Amino acid sequence: MPDATPEHTLLTPGPTPIHPRAMQALTRPMLGHMDPEVFALNREIQADLRVMYGTEESTFTALLAGTGSLGMEAGFANLVEAGDDVLVCANGTFGRRMAEMAARYGARVRLVTAPLGEAINPDDVAAHLDGAKMVAVVHGETSTGVLNPVPDIARLVRQSGALLTVDAVTTAGMEPFHMAQWGVDYAYTGAQKCLSAPPGLAPVAISERAFARFAARRAPTPLWYCDFEGLRDYWEDHSYHHTVPVNLHYALHAALRAALDEGLENRQRRVQQVSAALQTALAPLGFTPYVRRPEDRLPTVLALRLPEGLDDAGVRKALRERHISVTGGLGPTAGLIWRLGLMGETARPAPYLTLMHALEDILG
Ligand code: PLP
Repeated sequence: MPDATPEHTLLTPGPTPIHPRAMQALTRPMLGHMDPEVFALNREIQADLRVMYGTEESTFTALLAGTGSLGMEAGFANLVEAGDDVLVCANGTFGRRMAEMAARYGARVRLVTAPLGEAINPDDVAAHLDGAKMVAVVHGETSTGVLNPVPDIARLVRQSGALLTVDAVTTAGMEPFHMAQWGVDYAYTGAQKCLSAPPGLAPVAISERAFARFAARRAPTPLWYCDFEGLRDYWEDHSYHHTVPVNLHYALHAALRAALDEGLENRQRRVQQVSAALQTALAPLGFTPYVRRPEDRLPTVLALRLPEGLDDAGVRKALRERHISVTGGLGPTAGLIWRLGLMGETARPAPYLTLMHALEDILG
């Protein structure tokens, strides 16, 4: 591999290009994970995460040293015990991943599904809530570009007394997310998605109700690394649990600050504008929305059905030769759709203008 990678246009639904402020922060001199400056930085990260997730003042936030999947796993590992009834909304790859993880931690998993490319119907959740100790749902299903109706699902779950776990990997920081107002108990994302920080951290938010459930466990969580108590020991009591990746904390701190400086609502508007312009630009080439109902479309991952006869693999290979990465479908949608990322630094006109020029060239 050459030492210097040429300028690359990364249009994938994650990772996203690293924000310039995060890139700069990565070069800061290393400090120890028990250094007072690092604890001060961590406190700022925790406060900014509360804003990003829309939590109460008392809600615990932290970074896990791993990607979004670790955020997912930590929720089930800490909040589920053998035999617990967990209702998982599974209308794509990541919903199914949740179901698999919950089962590995001993849950009796029941599924609420929807046809591919459609959102979960809250009525189906209501019909299966009885007995559930937890409901888990992916807010933005990256595999199909579907936005699930989390506020409506949350309203139902709240009345039932079950905990609500929400995968906010493609939404937090770029789409409305109101943990306290909706009544979410556990939320997680990945640093490399809407925040445009390097991969390797999972920002999480844990409600007091979730901590109460955790405290009532019959046995310690089998996942020592992400034990909620261990997290609290480090993030609140400043005692050693494990060595956190300090330079990734610097970068995430900078990226998160950049997001809040821009303003969460401005970011939501930015996605809408770039997405609308992109759909208008691609429509004459024959690309059409894959998700049928406009209200089910995830703004941060634009899923487009390919034009009749377009050579999916060939065109994406030709784009890659021009240093442009575009992602196709996953599983059943392979060869059928493209999934264009509109998270963080990808949701800007410039990279998509590059794509349009290249497509013009390739498709003649
Ligand atoms: N959940 C969703 C909705 C995702 O899109 C992804 C990754 O694309 C994940 C979870 C897993 O995150 P990671 O690949 O960072 O482990």
